[in-house]
Amino acid sequence: MTLKHLNYDVAVIGGGAAGIGAAIAAAKSGARTILVEAGPIFGGELLSGMSIDGVLNGRGEWVVRGVADEIFEECRKMDGFIGPLHDYRLICYVCVDPEIMKIAVMRVLERHGVTPALYTQLTDVVCDNGTVKSAILVHKNTRTALSAKYFIDASGDGDLAFLAGAPTEFSDESGELQPLSLMFRMSGVENEPLLRFVRDNAPSLAVGESEAVRAGRTDEQLAQAIHDQGEPTIFFRGNGPFLGGAIQRGEMAPTALIMIMPTSKARKEVCVNATRIAENISGLDALGVSGAVSRLMEQVWNTAEFLKAHCPGFENAVFAGMAPRVGIRETRRVMGEYVLSGDEAAKGVKQRDVITKGAHHIDIHQDGTRQVRIPIADGGSYDIPFGCLIPRNVKNVLTAGRCISTDRIANGTTRMMGQCLGTGHAAGTAAAMCIAKGHEDIRQLPVKDLQAKLRDQGAVLDGTY
Ligand SMILES: Cc1cc2nc3c(=O)[nH]c(=O)nc-3n(C[C@H](O)[C@H](O)[C@H](O)COP(=O)(O)OP(=O)(O)OC[C@H]3O[C@@H](n4cnc5c(N)ncnc54)[C@H](O)[C@@H]3O)c2cc1C
Repeated sequence: MTLKHLNYDVAVIGGGAAGIGAAIAAAKSGARTILVEAGPIFGGELLSGMSIDGVLNGRGEWVVRGVADEIFEECRKMDGFIGPLHDYRLICYVCVDPEIMKIAVMRVLERHGVTPALYTQLTDVVCDNGTVKSAILVHKNTRTALSAKYFIDASGDGDLAFLAGAPTEFSDESGELQPLSLMFRMSGVENEPLLRFVRDNAPSLAVGESEAVRAGRTDEQLAQAIHDQGEPTIFFRGNGPFLGGAIQRGEMAPTALIMIMPTSKARKEVCVNATRIAENISGLDALGVSGAVSRLMEQVWNTAEFLKAHCPGFENAVFAGMAPRVGIRETRRVMGEYVLSGDEAAKGVKQRDVITKGAHHIDIHQDGTRQVRIPIADGGSYDIPFGCLIPRNVKNVLTAGRCISTDRIANGTTRMMGQCLGTGHAAGTAAAMCIAKGHEDIRQLPVKDLQAKLRDQGAVLDGTY
């Protein structure tokens, strides 16, 4: 195998929401930055068509800004931004056209001079006394030793931190893992009949699941509010008459939800989240995940057929595409200097070392029609402290995104794309600041200096109680 050497200030592993946020932030702060991605395109789950949750709280206040704004603005310029919207259940979210998102992400990375390294997988690290000296990357027949002053693990799975010797957790004592799912999109969906159906079928919907969102309104009034908002932000619940009846009749596989959200007004297109295989398959097991793909595709097709046959507005809809890959909700959590708990998140606890916020309810999908949904207190936000991004046992590594340091319950909210963008922004900025100051251990960076810089860059660290 050919051996190559590369050298950067900051090496970000994983080009999903967190890695994109981290790479942009590091480059904006003056670091020579490379973004390494195993796949052929940057975006990760940002390209799935799902709404970007956790950038707003349940009351509709923005809790994640900065780098996230820049990406949304790029989508907006190309007519690919829909939102923010309310789901009248628990949250407000931003919807984007995932096809436009592909271009938006590339444009922003390019603008800030991030070096792209697609088709390139991290397979190993070289460490010396708690410092990662280089990441070993593989592309076809070439191995690359990528050295950098700081590494950011945005792989979703904590691959780099794990290889570097940081402790990790996986599931909890129950061994339960969230199900695998495959998102798909349908175009030619007529909003008017769909929203009338929603308005007239409140018992089939999940609405008003927190007092902050319900605000004294009946289910019927909340269904009317979805109708009046004019966009399909719909959650048919697995135990309601519409979806529950279909599951009982064997027309739909057991699921907690058919969630529908807009992806393109021009194409009259929506994304549908409905499929699941809840067999505790590890996202780190390629054969296990591969074995689920054909079954998920059958569920996708069946759900599309079901919607066309039974859901007004879908009569003439056409199948428009699937997410680029099977969605994996849960793998390793890298244990860091601080471990955020589900209790802190649900109570909306504020922290002295905050570097970004979270606001999405705790969301743990389970088997059958089961799903844990715990709202954040008062429709507000909780703080994610810097220590959640600092893996134990290593000096020059930060984590960002789905693999940050939390317990399993908190991971049910910090895994949202808004929080991935926010933790990415903070990690990239912190790495660049350490390099500028000559710090060899991330722990040398005073949090108040990082907070000041993040505030300057538009990050939300205060308020939104
Ligand atoms: C089915 C499903 C539905 C969801 N619904 C929503 C929703 O509606 N709203 C919301 O906000 N969030 C949702 N989430 C959660 C959210 O999408 C993810 O948790 C989040 O996008 C993770 O971002 P990330 O950047 O940490 O990881 P990812 O987006 O997974 O990106 C990680 C990237 O790293 C790359 N990578 C991994 N390992 C390596 C390696 N060794 N070398 C090189 N590259 C590597 C991967 O190819 C990938 O592109 C959902 C998740 C799933 C699975």
